[in-house]
Amino acid sequence: MIRLEGVKKVYEGIGKSPDILALNGVNLHIKKGEFAFVLGHSGAGKSTFLKLILREEVATEGQVIVNGLNLNKMRQRQIPYFRRQLGVVFQDFRLIPTMTAYENVAFAMRVTNIPERQIKRRVPYVLNLVGLGSKAYSLPQELSGGEQQRIALARALVHSPPIIIADEPTGNIDPELSIEIMELLQAINTVGTTVVVVTHERDLAMRFNKRIITIDHGEVVKDTPPKPRRPAGQVQQTAAAASNRRAQESLRRQPAQHRPHTVTAAGREGRQG
Ligand code: ADP
Repeated sequence: MIRLEGVKKVYEGIGKSPDILALNGVNLHIKKGEFAFVLGHSGAGKSTFLKLILREEVATEGQVIVNGLNLNKMRQRQIPYFRRQLGVVFQDFRLIPTMTAYENVAFAMRVTNIPERQIKRRVPYVLNLVGLGSKAYSLPQELSGGEQQRIALARALVHSPPIIIADEPTGNIDPELSIEIMELLQAINTVGTTVVVVTHERDLAMRFNKRIITIDHGEVVKDTPPKPRRPAGQVQQTAAAASNRRAQESLRRQPAQHRPHTVTAAGREGRQG
């Protein structure tokens, strides 16, 4: 699903500033349906990794293949279509401040010329999925950081992307809400969406039993798979986990043709409240 082969990325220095080797020989394969953390300190190369897989930057050497597409060879005009296959949740949410939660999500559909009747079904569905059906008409400034993050996640889900990428999803919200958003990402992963979470928060990554790819000085220095599952009875239950189980069930209830990697226009399927 996401494959990096011998990837090097050099930012060329301007004037007298030196060239920067941001990624150095990265080999990585994140498979379809996986949930992986990409963990690293500031300056490790995480943003460069993200920019490469979003095709905001091109590798200096090596191959970057996302969803079967070789990004080195991608033409400029293909990029917008490619990006629609990725749901990205940014650290700073990137919501439009003058638009309500509903409009923020609907906007992402309108720019791709999706018919209005489909938007009317789909937006309430994804808002319900992230537990914010009741805040559809609130402006971002009227929402907490955690709620804004959920709107950003709803927007990322709107096109049923096969891959969700979350860039420091917990950077701007408090720890309690961090766990909730992470559990929501887990629920989305459970129904088949590949999830990549980029973070510098080691403790957060360690809380979840997921693959952790550690980057340091532009290299993958560690790649830890999840531990084998514990027997079901021993799994810790939390309120957030229970709420996200409902989201999971809602995702599962979708008609099969709408469930390739989360959701599509199936508003009536959304969880209530
Ligand atoms: P992280 O996201 O882990 O903090 P980055 O990928 O942003 O790391 O940065 C990796 C290295 O590349 C750092 O040394 C950083 O200063 C450098 N870098 C990042 N972006 C640029 C750029 N546009 N021009 C020059 N150097 C850059």
